[in-house]
Amino acid sequence: VVSKLPQTGTTIFTIMSALANDTGAINLSQGFPDYDCSPELIELVNQAMKNGHNQYAPMAGVMSLRERIAEKTEKLYGAVYNPDTEITITAGGTQAIFTAISAVIHPNDEVIIFEPAFDCYAPAIKLMGGVVKSLALEPPNYRIAWDMVKRLINHKTKMIILNSPHNPTSTILHKEDIDELSAIVKNQDILILSDEVYEHLIYDGEIHHSMARYPELQQRSFIVASFGKPFHATGWKIGYCMAPEYLMQEFRKIHQFLVFAVNTPIQYAIAEYLKREETYMGLPDFFQQKRDYFRKGLEQTRFELLPCFGSYFQSVRYNAITHDKDAEFAIRMAKENGVASIPVSAFYTKGIDHHVLRFCFAKRQETLDKAVDRLMKV
Ligand code: GLN
Repeated sequence: VVSKLPQTGTTIFTIMSALANDTGAINLSQGFPDYDCSPELIELVNQAMKNGHNQYAPMAGVMSLRERIAEKTEKLYGAVYNPDTEITITAGGTQAIFTAISAVIHPNDEVIIFEPAFDCYAPAIKLMGGVVKSLALEPPNYRIAWDMVKRLINHKTKMIILNSPHNPTSTILHKEDIDELSAIVKNQDILILSDEVYEHLIYDGEIHHSMARYPELQQRSFIVASFGKPFHATGWKIGYCMAPEYLMQEFRKIHQFLVFAVNTPIQYAIAEYLKREETYMGLPDFFQQKRDYFRKGLEQTRFELLPCFGSYFQSVRYNAITHDKDAEFAIRMAKENGVASIPVSAFYTKGIDHHVLRFCFAKRQETLDKAVDRLMKV
């Protein structure tokens, strides 16, 4: 066959997790916890199954779950979404992202992404015949240079993809970024895809600048969120997308033929679980403790810590250790030192390598201790 994605290989998450499994390395690469989700949540899934919620859910998702999401969004960010027409439950954030891109991107449409970027954005754009316009962000702060964004914009620009808190760099959008973005898209036909799957993982008392806080931005945005991250259940592959009705209509045209609907009992369970806001309000403290603990450990190593404002990733530079490419170094470290990480160059489409590795700290304290012990010998 003629490949539709000739430049695309296997995702780095699969490669590094497989390497960790093969070598027995501590897996701080792919982002997922090594502790279990709440027993209460598991019990709620069991209950939903026992109560007979085992057949197809409505195409857009179980209504009680969409209602809880609408309430939570209004409470946290002030935006009012109609659960009937503006919220759809998806099989994780990645499906929501793919669906949103495929719903609106036509051949030759340009999409601006900021790299390092989560690796599913560019392939989805290309598959639709769209053109990726990437802007490289630089360590240590990885801030968006908005004057560069302005220069990229022309009549073909269809969408800007944002991700805050940001994977892999752990940076967040600040109010100044929102102001710049608002000025840029004003009076332009530009959509926003806002990947907010780490919305609850934000530290040091910072607030999450969801597009849902800003009516002019919200009106042109697909907002993507996930339950896997906040509820420590990445394997459940459940998330959602919110968008104004004119966008959600197009989104559902794709969603219905991509997955039709998402598994039913988990939707009932999460709808019940979300009734108590403690289930997500304590997350910043929970993860900040892990972040601080891991950073303190890493301070005893030769790695240079980069800032971490959100998400459950900590990036490091390693100039004091080697000048090897990050991919080579990550593989060697997994094999020889027993710690798997993600080389951040995998998130640049243009071969940029700042010699940065990403570690996931959503791990038990013993795991972090063991990892730091090994990293001290690197
Ligand atoms: N979001 C997770 C990460 O960044 C992994 C997602 C995936 O494996 N596709 O590690």
